[in-house]
Amino acid sequence: MLPAAIATLNMPFPGAGMTCAAQSDTLLSGVAENRQARASNNDSRFPISRQSVVCQMSWARRILVQASESAWLRDHGPRLRFVQRASRRFLPGERLEDALAAARRLAGNGITSLITHLGENVRDRAEAAAVTREYVGILESIRAATLPAEISIKLTQLGLDNDRNFCFANLVTLIEAAAGSNAAANFVWIDMEQSAYVDATLDLHRRAREAHPNVGVCVQAYLRRTAADLESLVAMGASVRLVKGAYSEPRHVAFEKKSEVDENFFRLAQSLLSAEARRAGVRAVLGTHDTGLIARISAWAKSQGVEKDRLEFAMLYGIQRAEQLRLAREGYRSCVLVSYGSYWFPWYMRRLAERPANLWFIGRNLFAK
Ligand SMILES: Cc1cc2nc3c(=O)[nH]c(=O)nc-3n(C[C@H](O)[C@H](O)[C@H](O)COP(=O)(O)OP(=O)(O)OC[C@H]3O[C@@H](n4cnc5c(N)ncnc54)[C@H](O)[C@@H]3O)c2cc1C
Repeated sequence: MLPAAIATLNMPFPGAGMTCAAQSDTLLSGVAENRQARASNNDSRFPISRQSVVCQMSWARRILVQASESAWLRDHGPRLRFVQRASRRFLPGERLEDALAAARRLAGNGITSLITHLGENVRDRAEAAAVTREYVGILESIRAATLPAEISIKLTQLGLDNDRNFCFANLVTLIEAAAGSNAAANFVWIDMEQSAYVDATLDLHRRAREAHPNVGVCVQAYLRRTAADLESLVAMGASVRLVKGAYSEPRHVAFEKKSEVDENFFRLAQSLLSAEARRAGVRAVLGTHDTGLIARISAWAKSQGVEKDRLEFAMLYGIQRAEQLRLAREGYRSCVLVSYGSYWFPWYMRRLAERPANLWFIGRNLFAK
């Protein structure tokens, strides 16, 4: 599998039929999406069809998502120094202190943080218990440093694959540890993982929320079921983080076309910000770097009289920094998810899959000293 990942560096991404000049234009300028738009306008300077680019981008995405799921690559990929160097764009470091230092810098710019300790599919009970203790430690550190930060966890890190009740007990430990604080570190977010985990995740979130208000859950706009799931979350006045979705899912489960996912994201954001949702006390966090979508949602919210500080936008560390700052400056709530830990390989592959032009960073680090 490693050769497959390295081969992606030599892949004629983003289009096999593209000239070298066109490729380097795309990779160097990092504007693959603009390029697609120009191609769709039949601009003769870009002699590739939009369909060909989209098709080959999804091919690159599929390989990267599969790489994120390979156990062999997970063990061997992180040892490659050029991959380590490239990952630093999205990861301030492997230690908690690195994440806290990043959170402090963000706070200086009016941006809150969401701290996560990388890991997933922990099958060993002792290891899941250790992850729970690690998160309690994060909450204590955030509190000690009075940082405006919350935590975000994956249920498969807390033992969901092993024993649902054990996982629930670990989740409640974290929620109670968070509730013990005052302003800082008082909230626990539950990430959404592959579609096979959605029922269990929503069930454990609902059970936890019956006793504790300081827990929220992520939902994914690419899933066909999410509109229905959101109805019940809105009815209970839940805290919801809406994202597009980062895993590889079959077409009967998830929308395939980016345009469908984007449109669904917009509709779901409207539900989360609706008068009914606001009356129910819903906290809506919109986790996206899509500046077009952010502009569309903010314009719609303004037209509905929704106050700016009710709109909370969340992005990943290292992506769209200017937009993060702009949102904070203009009075929106701006939040950044900061990850740390040594188990970063699958997570990093998913970041590459979201924008295969990021492979350029790996390529550049291959030759860096
Ligand atoms: C705070 C937060 C929490 C998340 N939690 C989850 C979760 O629990 N479960 C889950 O499945 N997914 C999660 N995700 C990931 C999410 O599902 C998407 O995969 C990711 O956000 C990319 O989608 P997008 O909305 O930015 O839109 P896209 O359409 O993918 O991207 C829009 C634009 O943003 C920029 N961009 C996007 N991603 C990247 C990148 N990796 N590198 C560089 N530029 C990029 C590009 O300019 C791109 O054109 C989370 C994302 C965020 C921001």
